[in-house]
Amino acid sequence: MLVRGVVQGVGFRPFVYRLASDEGLTGSVGNDTDGVTIEIEGARRSLDSFLLRLRSEAPPLARIDAITVQDAEPTGGVGFSILMSEVLGRVSTGIPADAATCPDCLRELLDPNDRRYRYPFLNCTNCGPRFTITRRIPYDRPQTSMAQFRMCAACQAEYDDPTNRRFHAQPNACWQCGPQLTLVDAAGDPIACTDIVNEVIARLAAGEILAIKGIGGFHLSVDATNETAVERLRQRKHRYGKPLAVVVRDMDAARALCELDETETALLQTPARPIVLARSRAGSGIAPSVAPGIPWLGLFLPYAPLHHLLFADGRMRALVMTSANLSEEPIAIDNEEARRRLAAIADAYVLHDREILQRCDDSVMAVVDDAPQFVRRARGFVPLGVPLPLDAPPLLAVGGHLKNVFALARGRFAYQSQHLGDLENLTGLDFFRDSLDHLMRTFEIEPTAVVHDLHPGYLSTEWATQWAEERGLRRIAVQHHHAHIAGCMAEHALEGRVIGLALDGTGYGTDGRIWGGEVLIASMEKFERFAHIGYVAMPGGDAAVREPWRMAFAHLLAAGFSQDEARTLTGASEQEAHLVARMIERGINAPMTSSLGRLFDAAAAVVLNRRTVDYEAQAAIELEGIAEGESSRLERTEYALELRGGNEDLQTLDAGRLWRTLVGDLRKGVAKPEIAARFHAGVAEGFIRAASSARERTGMNRVALSGGCMHNRRLTQLLRAGLEAEGFEVFAHRQVSPGDGGLSYGQAAVGAAILLQES
Ligand SMILES: [Zn+2]
Ligand SMILES: [Zn+2]
Repeated sequence: MLVRGVVQGVGFRPFVYRLASDEGLTGSVGNDTDGVTIEIEGARRSLDSFLLRLRSEAPPLARIDAITVQDAEPTGGVGFSILMSEVLGRVSTGIPADAATCPDCLRELLDPNDRRYRYPFLNCTNCGPRFTITRRIPYDRPQTSMAQFRMCAACQAEYDDPTNRRFHAQPNACWQCGPQLTLVDAAGDPIACTDIVNEVIARLAAGEILAIKGIGGFHLSVDATNETAVERLRQRKHRYGKPLAVVVRDMDAARALCELDETETALLQTPARPIVLARSRAGSGIAPSVAPGIPWLGLFLPYAPLHHLLFADGRMRALVMTSANLSEEPIAIDNEEARRRLAAIADAYVLHDREILQRCDDSVMAVVDDAPQFVRRARGFVPLGVPLPLDAPPLLAVGGHLKNVFALARGRFAYQSQHLGDLENLTGLDFFRDSLDHLMRTFEIEPTAVVHDLHPGYLSTEWATQWAEERGLRRIAVQHHHAHIAGCMAEHALEGRVIGLALDGTGYGTDGRIWGGEVLIASMEKFERFAHIGYVAMPGGDAAVREPWRMAFAHLLAAGFSQDEARTLTGASEQEAHLVARMIERGINAPMTSSLGRLFDAAAAVVLNRRTVDYEAQAAIELEGIAEGESSRLERTEYALELRGGNEDLQTLDAGRLWRTLVGDLRKGVAKPEIAARFHAGVAEGFIRAASSARERTGMNRVALSGGCMHNRRLTQLLRAGLEAEGFEVFAHRQVSPGDGGLSYGQAAVGAAILLQES
């Protein structure tokens, strides 16, 4: 029998061995190019029980996608054996994702009588680094950055013993034979101390900024309860507004900082250990600068032994752990690289001698609409495949521009890369190339086609065009919002056509304009545009993203306000107002957009006086934040976007009345949280009406929700509740991000659908 899925490097063969022995069966188990092959012989009843338990009792990190059973002649052998790794030909099993320290290892870590007491690199088949330390397949020690460490006799004995928890645990190590920590000061000189962990705790307690080499890259860490220290980190990192992630000792500590529901509690404790965005508690003692202006905290539980050690003596309550990079540069992984790039930031460096071979940021998730949703899919999930509903030819989908993630697809799976950051410069592109080489090797996928965004100016488009030409590959351009909706369809294996609400910040449209508030009628291979938010100028192009007051100014003029009124409402100077008004009037450097993200920015600019932002979507996030606690019901107010018939069949959602009502409320002195809540409801109401109108025309009843605005919990919840109340079937992303991080998965689905249709 053949078992496919994530079954190598996760303790699957010893598990099979134990199971077979338990059921009194004979035979063998071995790794195979396609998974794990089991030959087994014995009584019918035992065989049935074996098969049942194979699924129900599989090791925690294993994921069984398929079991194929074939009858064979009995050989009458005795005993059960584990065959050594033999990998030939095509490999579809790949490398497992990195996993957090398991309970057994944690117990050893804190047990003074254990030989691995306080050893910061302990792991076993149920936990530890995988993807980040692997150079190539098969996943075996010589192919990992553990190759340079020769196991001591004790470790080797564990590694060779099929009944041991560390049987074939490739990163197996101990104090005697494995990687070690070093602590150096800002100048790179070793810091003399008797215990590195204690010294690090003392320095953190004193308010120092430490650069800590972790699993997928360096973190910058400070005491999260020390406002001065957090503020200094922000100043040095030039990262002023963006929230910082916080790690705490355990669930009790997490509950003390945030209000956590069941789903969030479960999510925090999964072996992937993502950062979870949860509602913070007032008076928790976390420094205000950790997450200024928003009611959520990015929280995670320890996933590396070192994290546990930093909390072990009880002195530290919560630590900031943020990716050690400047803005959207790739995270630093190399000791020298870190020292060079963090020279002006870190007071000291915690280094180690196990090389990180794959950069991988922490994953970020949030519970939206009662289910986990990806904000950033990286460590702990990459390179696990996401199922596709069709048989994809080998292809590469390069993703978009911001928050780039590419995907390789073959057969029934798409393998998304880790979050790569913005593809705006060559550093980003280098990371992209390295990661692509690695994943192509890992999965032995040689693409026969390349899928990219429709935007001609994206670096990813340029790169894809060149790559396709060099290799003589088929090239497919996919419209941004079509890719979003197709991704949602693919996740739920939806056939035929759906009504797609693609709501985000920026995507290049077929008319050359910037789309982002779109109602599409889409199938996997094509789409038509049914309705969109009425076009408004974006004065200054990208400058309007960084300065939401410009967007507000444009929206207010479009809604019929005078220049003077728009100036007062946006807090613009005479000169600014004059400049922006002229841009809009003459259409100079003022591209037209139907973006919902920009409408949110504009509303935040007026309601919260948020004139400029430090990171994308900051204004919109703050607007959602201030509405927390307000009722989230659709009220059928005057805030609703108005559906209007436009050219031929294309309709527009007009925001004019929304703006007039909103400004009226502001002038009446209506509380800002209430205005923010009504704004959300009005946007949702408009799109629900548009979906109903699309249903009238097409008879379709399924709605797919996608785009970065789906990270907005209030909006997503309003949309789902409202659509379901109208009798729609609603689908949202669960396995990839609804934002641009999920784009390549959707591109892969569209590409595969088009290629299959042609063949
Ligand atoms: Zn373990
Ligand atoms: Zn050892």
